[in-house]
Parts: sequence; C-alpha cells; structure tokens
Amino acid sequence: MTEAIERPAGDAPPEWEYASAPESTDVVRLDDRYGLFIGGEFVEPKSGRWFPTISPSTEETLAEVADADAADVARAVDAARDAAPAWQGLAPSERAKHIFRIARQVQERARELAVLETMNGGKPIKESRDVDVPLAAAHFFYYAGWADKLEYAFPGRGSPKPVGVAGQIIPWNFPLLMAAWKLAPALATGNTAVLKPAETTPLTALLLAQIMQEAELPPGVVNIVTGAGETGAALVDSPVDKIAFTGSTEVGKAIRRATAGSGTRLTLELGGKAANIVFEDAPLDQAVEGVINGIFFNQGHVCCAGSRLLVQEPVFDVLLGKLKERLQTLRVGDPLDKNTDVGAINSKAQLEKIEELVTSGVDEGAEIYQPECDLPERGFWFRPTLFTGVSQSHRIAREEIFGPVLSILTFRTPDEAIEKANNTPYGLSAGIWTEKGSRILHMAQRLRAGVVWANTFNRFDPASPFGGYKESGFGREGGLHGLEPYLTFERGSS
Ligand code: NDP
Repeated sequence: MTEAIERPAGDAPPEWEYASAPESTDVVRLDDRYGLFIGGEFVEPKSGRWFPTISPSTEETLAEVADADAADVARAVDAARDAAPAWQGLAPSERAKHIFRIARQVQERARELAVLETMNGGKPIKESRDVDVPLAAAHFFYYAGWADKLEYAFPGRGSPKPVGVAGQIIPWNFPLLMAAWKLAPALATGNTAVLKPAETTPLTALLLAQIMQEAELPPGVVNIVTGAGETGAALVDSPVDKIAFTGSTEVGKAIRRATAGSGTRLTLELGGKAANIVFEDAPLDQAVEGVINGIFFNQGHVCCAGSRLLVQEPVFDVLLGKLKERLQTLRVGDPLDKNTDVGAINSKAQLEKIEELVTSGVDEGAEIYQPECDLPERGFWFRPTLFTGVSQSHRIAREEIFGPVLSILTFRTPDEAIEKANNTPYGLSAGIWTEKGSRILHMAQRLRAGVVWANTFNRFDPASPFGGYKESGFGREGGLHGLEPYLTFERGSS
C-alpha cells in the first residue's frame, strides 16, 4: 500500500527523507587476531607485538594485527627469495592461471571484500562495492592476460626477465585496489613479493592472502607483513630487488634517499594537487558532477583528487551557486549505508591534518562554505568544504589536504589556467571541462600532469598507465607501462 505524500502549502516541493539502507556485515567473519602471511601461512610475529585495527566510523576495534619488526620482514623476504626460482620456472601460462584464479576469487568474494573495506577504511559502501573491488579484480584479470605475452610486449628490447623480489608499500586510501595494482603486474612478470599494507587498513590485504591460499598460489610467492612506518622502512632496508611505493611525498623522498646507490629499483607514486579546470563553454551541470566526484570521492583521500578548481571568470558565480546547491544534497555519515556519499575520515591523525589545513585557509583569508549536516557522534568526520577567495600562495592551494576540501580559484585565459594549474610542486593529474576538442588537446599538451581527464574525472582502467611528474613521483602503474618496472631485458636473446 502506498501512502499519500503531503504537499506543503504553496509551491514548495515535498521534503524527501532517505530511509537508511545499511549493508549487512554478516558476510564478514573476522578473526580476533591476524598473523603475518609468510611462506603461504599465517604465522605469529617474531616481534611478539600486535596492534588493534579499528573502524574509523565507529572507533570500534575490529581485530588485532601482527606488528612486524625487521626480523619478521627478513623472514618474509627470505620466503619470497626461496619461492622465486620455482615461480619463475613455471610456464607463463601456468602463472597466468594462478592470477586468473585470484581475479575470479576476488569476484566471488566481492561483497565480503567490499564490506570489510568499508568497515576498516570508512569509505562509502557504494564506492568499495562499485569501484574498489571490481577494479581490483580487473587488474588481476588484465595482468593475468599479459603473463604469457611478455615476449611480444616490448619488441626490440631483448628477452624480458623478472627483477626478482619486489617490496611493495601501500597506503590506506584504496587498500585492496593498491594491493592489486602492486601485486598483479609483479606476479605476471614472474616476480615474488612482500607487501606492506598501511597500518590503519590491513584487513582486506589479509583477506586477499586467504584468497591466494584458495587460489593455490605457491607458498612464498606473495607475503604480507603488517605494521606501521617502521615495518615499511625495514622492507626498504632489506635486500629486495625493487621497491614500489604509493604514499606521501615526504616518505617517498625518504625512500629515495634510503635506496640511492643500492641498485634497488624504485617506483614512487606520491601526492598530488590536481587542477580541475572549467571553461565558460563547459557543460556546467556535467562539470558540477565531475567537480563533486573529483574532490568528494573517497572523502578526498585520493592522490589524484581534483582539489584545486580553476573556473573561468564569466561562469564563476553560476558554477559556485550550483556547487553549493549540490553540496547540500551530499549525504555524510555511516559508510555502510548504501545512500552515503561521504563516509568517515580514515583516521584521527588524518582528521587532525585536515582540520589544521582548513584552519590555515580561514586564517589566511579564504572564505569557507560548509553545508549544514548532522555528523555521527563517534568516529572521524569532516563536512564537505569549499573555499573561495583562494590565492595561489595559500597553503590550501599548495599542500595536499587529502580530505573533502575544495579550493576554488579563477582564471581569464587558457594561458592563465595553464600557468596556475602547473604552479605546484606536484604533477599527477588534471581535468579539463570544455566543449571544444581543440582546446582539450591544447591544454592537455601543456599541463604537467601524468593523467589528464577531459569532461570527466577520476576514471581508472587497468589498461591505462597512471603516475606523475615532479614531486608526484616517477614510474607508471597500469597498462603495458606497469609491467616495465618489474622486468629486466637480456639483450641479444630475442
Ligand atoms: P605515508 O606515506 O606515511 O604512508 C604510506 C605507506 O608507507 C604506509 O604503508 C606507511 O605505513 C608506510 N610508511 C610510513 N613511513 C615509512 C617509511 N619511513 N618507510 C617506508 N614506509 C613507510 O602516508 P600517511 O598514511 O602517513 O599519510 C600522510 C599524508 O600522506 C596524508 O595526509 C596524505 O596527504 C598523504 N598520502 C598520500 C597518498 C597518495 O596516494 N598520494 C596516500 C596516503 C597518504 P603506515 O601506514 O603504517 O604509517
């Protein structure tokens, strides 16, 4: 039976309320404690230390996780080293089968992975369900397809050989997806790996370890060591052949210093401060969606987030009005609710960092706008935020906030837009909104950014390379380019 909707007097539209639609957590079975995944088994840490991992939306402890010290890391690297000859000796098509099995298992257990990702990281379930998990599976599928075609991938370069053992350090913003970005190309190219997930979000990587057991991946081919920054530093200092790191520019620089002169190969995928550039001829309603997605997707915890909006002056007022209106409709809160657009901030430390930078924006004279919305009492939350009156020297225009905060600047000419967009130490991504194809090409050629989106934003595909310039790092992940850092080429043998 349907209930009649009461129309308020006058022309005012009826007020619609969203009923909550929480995703069930029954599908997730958590252990009290998780050991380190070394040599194909979960083992107790030699360190004897454990730490709690929490849900940032409730602050409730979900499980205890092993805290690996240098001896634990050495054990994982040894296991990877021991597993290397047999893994490299497998027919490439057999290696591919293992990776395909992992991809299929990620799909089979997609709901469980999505719920766990949201519980441990705070991101909205609709994102973990529709973006993180499907893209993680897609990366394993994509790179499984390359495993037996490497000889054809780089013509004229010689015979491709694996580099050996890869040490891989990943952040907390896309925990499962980053694990897939790192592991899939490493395995496809015949390397073995030691992966260090972020301290705050280890649980989906550990579930992935269980999936690898089910996929009968040979023991030691993938090892997972949990812990904080010291565990990552121990992995960097260990005798691995390659380090692949995604995270902050500061830690990236420290890793670069630590590996300099050691012969260890290195790729760094670091921070960003992307310009999302809206021209006066842009389809504005579409641009509003792209701008909102560009900065509020995953609470702005995105290295390629469109955190600086550059608007051409004639459309500034109308675009700002539309953005403010759209902000009012964003639902902030329980990330397990399927209606939620903006979930929890990943950690207390990250929340404090966002608050500090937002305070600096106000103190430096920018004008802040935040919509009215109720925030849950427990957990870590931050309202979607816009800043206008931002100048290029403001910290909120220069530093990576890594939160739901958009700094809006204006420009008059394409050259001014390019000048402002490139006026950053970073160079990871950019967005262009215009209906002129020629302008897109003109701009894209001049923007110093590894990825440039046109009339869209935050689109990812395993076949498409991703990576930055300048302080956003070097090396590419994804696509054919993503295979290269895991290969050496023997001249004269092909
Ligand atoms: P980090 O760069 O510290 O973390 C990334 C990964 O590196 C984590 O696994 C971390 O471990 C590990 N790590 C930390 N210190 C070291 C070290 N000395 N040697 C080797 N590995 C190390 O990022 P944070 O989590 O501290 O976030 C800080 C800021 O970095 C954020 O506010 C954001 O601005 C930026 N950031 C950018 C990311 C990006 O993709 N561009 C991703 C994440 C953060 P652990 O988590 O245990 O500390």
